[in-house]
Amino acid sequence: ETRPQALAAALRPFFPEMADPGSCIGSWVDGRIVPGTGEPVRLVDPSTGLALAEYPDAGPEVAAFAARAATAGQARWAALTGAARGRVMQEIARAIRAEIEPLARLEALNAGKPIRDCRVEATKVAEMFEYYAGWADKLHGEVIPVPTSHLNYTRREPLGVVLQITPWNAPVFTCGWQLAPALAAGNAVLLKPSELTPLTSLAVAALAERAGLPAGVVNVLAGYGHTTGQAALAERAVAKVVFVGSPATGARIAEAAARHLKPCVLELGGKSANIVFADADLERACLGAQAAIFAGAGQSCVAGSRLLVERPVHDRLIAMLAAGAERLRVGDPLDPQTEVGPINNAAQYRHVLAMIRGGLDQGARLAAGSDGTPEAGGYYVRPTILAQATNAMDCAQTEIFGPVVTVIPFDTEEEAVAIANDSAFGLAGAVWTRDVGRAHRVAAAVRAGTFWINAYKTIHVASPFGGSGRSGYGRSSGLEALHEYTQVKSVWVETAAAPAASFGYAPGV
Ligand code: NAD
Repeated sequence: ETRPQALAAALRPFFPEMADPGSCIGSWVDGRIVPGTGEPVRLVDPSTGLALAEYPDAGPEVAAFAARAATAGQARWAALTGAARGRVMQEIARAIRAEIEPLARLEALNAGKPIRDCRVEATKVAEMFEYYAGWADKLHGEVIPVPTSHLNYTRREPLGVVLQITPWNAPVFTCGWQLAPALAAGNAVLLKPSELTPLTSLAVAALAERAGLPAGVVNVLAGYGHTTGQAALAERAVAKVVFVGSPATGARIAEAAARHLKPCVLELGGKSANIVFADADLERACLGAQAAIFAGAGQSCVAGSRLLVERPVHDRLIAMLAAGAERLRVGDPLDPQTEVGPINNAAQYRHVLAMIRGGLDQGARLAAGSDGTPEAGGYYVRPTILAQATNAMDCAQTEIFGPVVTVIPFDTEEEAVAIANDSAFGLAGAVWTRDVGRAHRVAAAVRAGTFWINAYKTIHVASPFGGSGRSGYGRSSGLEALHEYTQVKSVWVETAAAPAASFGYAPGV
C-alpha cells in the first residue's frame, strides 16, 4: 500500500463519498465538502518527503460562504439551552471515542506524528468535549449591587462567529482544544487549520455533525493563511480571532485584527527553561527533560528547549540524557514502536538543521544527535543535545521547534532564574529540586504561563494555558477559555414604584 492509498483509506471512515482524496479534499461548510477555488496546496508525507495529495486553497468566496453559514448556524446553536448544547457535545465526544484509531491514523499520515502520540491526542479531543459539555449549562452572569433603584445583572453571551487559525504541530488536539470551549459558550466557528494538516479537523467536523451538531456551527476552511485566513478574518461576521502559531504570523494576525477592530487571542511559541538543581532526583529529571524536548520531535510550543543545569550535576545529567536520546526509537510515524517521528515539513526541517549548525558554529558542543547535515529519506532529525551553550547563542534565544535541546550550566538559584527570564518568550518552564521552598520560589520568579515542579508537559483542559511576551496573550483551556469566548452584557431594570422626577437617576444614599 502506497502512502497516498493509505491516506485515501484513512479518510474513508469520515468521508465515505471521497473516492479519491486528491480531487475531493476541500472545506467543510454548512454540512458538506465545498471545493476550493484558489491555488493548489500540496500535502507531503513527512516520512518520505514524497507527495501525498493535493487540493485547491479555499479562497475568499468559500470563506464568505462559510461566514454566512456560520451566522445562520450560530443562531440555531445559541437558541438551544446550555443543557441541550452540552448533550450534543457529549455525543460528539462519544463519536470521537469510537473513532480514535482512524483519527490517529489520519493524523499520523498527514502530520507525521507517531501513531501512539496521535491516539493520546485524539483521546484528549474527546476529553475536551466532555469537559466543556459540562460547562455548557453552568455559564451565568451575576447580580451587581448598584446604589440606585435598579436591579443590575450581567449575562454571559456568546460572541457569535469566531475564527480559529491553527498550526501543523498538533492539528487534531488543537482543533478540539479551541472548538470545545467556543461551542460550549454558544458560538459558531470558522476553523482554518494549517494548509499542511487540514485532514483531522475536517474529520472532526464531519463526525460532530453525524453526532448531532447542526450544520453551519463548525466550518473548516482548508487552505493558506495569507489568502483564506485573511479573507475569513475580514468577514464582518467574525467577532474574534483565536490564533495558535508562530510569533511572526501572530503579529500579522494582530495587525489585521486591529485594522478590523477585532480582538484576538494569540497562542504563540516558546523557549521554555527546564531548570535542574543538583539536589533533584536526577533519574526523573532526565526522563522529564527527554519528554520535554524529544516528544513530538520537539514540535511543541511548551518544549523544554533550554535545559539549565546546576554545575555539580551538569556533566552527569548530559551523559544520562545523551544515553537516553540514543535509545529513543526514531522512525515511521505509523510504526507503533516509534517514539520520535519526522519533522512535519521541508521548510521546518531546514530550519531545525540550520539552527543546529548555527549552535555548533557559535561554540556549543554536540553531545548527541545530528550535526545539522541533512540525511536522505524523510524529514528526520535525531534527538540532539547542544551542550556547554550560553544563553546568548541563537540556539538559546530562537525557537527551534525540533528535537534539539540547548544545555546551559548555572551556579546559583538567582542565576538560573535570570537565565530563564532572559528570553523574549514567556510560555512555560519547570524546576527539578527536592527543596520545597526553592521549588515555589523559582515557580513564582520565572515568567511563564505554565510552570511545572518536578514534572514537565502535563497539561489538562481544565487548567488555564497561555503566555506573555512573544508567546502571545489571552488564555485557553479551563474557565478562562469560556471567558475568552463570551462577552458580558449588563442589564438594568427599574424597580422604583414611581419614575425618577428628572433626567438621569436619583442618586443613591
Ligand atoms: P504559522 O504561524 O506558520 O502558521 C499557523 C497558522 O497561521 C496556519 O494555519 C497558517 O496557514 C496561518 N497563517 C500563516 N500566515 C498567515 C497570514 N498572513 N494570515 C492569516 N493566517 C496565516 O505556525 P506553524 O509553523 O504552523 O506552527 C508552529 C508555531 O506554532 C510555533 O511557533 C509554535 O510554538 C506555535 N504553537 C503555539 C502553541 C501555543 O499554544 N502557544 C501551540 C502549538 C504551536
